[in-house]
Amino acid sequence: MNNDYTEHKTALENELSMLTTELAGLGIQDPHNPADWIAKPDSETGGEPDPNDVADRTEDWDERRATVALLETRFNNITRALNKFNTGTYGVCEISGEPIEADRLAANPAARTCKKHLEAESDLPA
Ligand SMILES: [Zn+2]
Repeated sequence: MNNDYTEHKTALENELSMLTTELAGLGIQDPHNPADWIAKPDSETGGEPDPNDVADRTEDWDERRATVALLETRFNNITRALNKFNTGTYGVCEISGEPIEADRLAANPAARTCKKHLEAESDLPA
């Protein structure tokens, strides 16, 4: 029996394109490692740093790097899921090799495990 995952694939592709746009506004994709995004400093603030401003900007910078890291994780999760369409392993639990439940995939099309192995998902290698 073949499952039809067309809807999940479309959802993943849409999310990937949204994430790419968001990431491109905050960082630069490493040309040698497309899975790695590097936060770029805010280019709008040039010139001599105002001492009163520095603390604020450090905070902005930390926040930006945190945001990029978060988006990067989702970006890589989705890329991984989309690659599975090419290898024919989409919808298969990475731990047990069993089909992932339809409602789990509906809730999270990038899910890597079936419900039974839900808790082990975060231990899987990137
Ligand atoms: Zn499993």
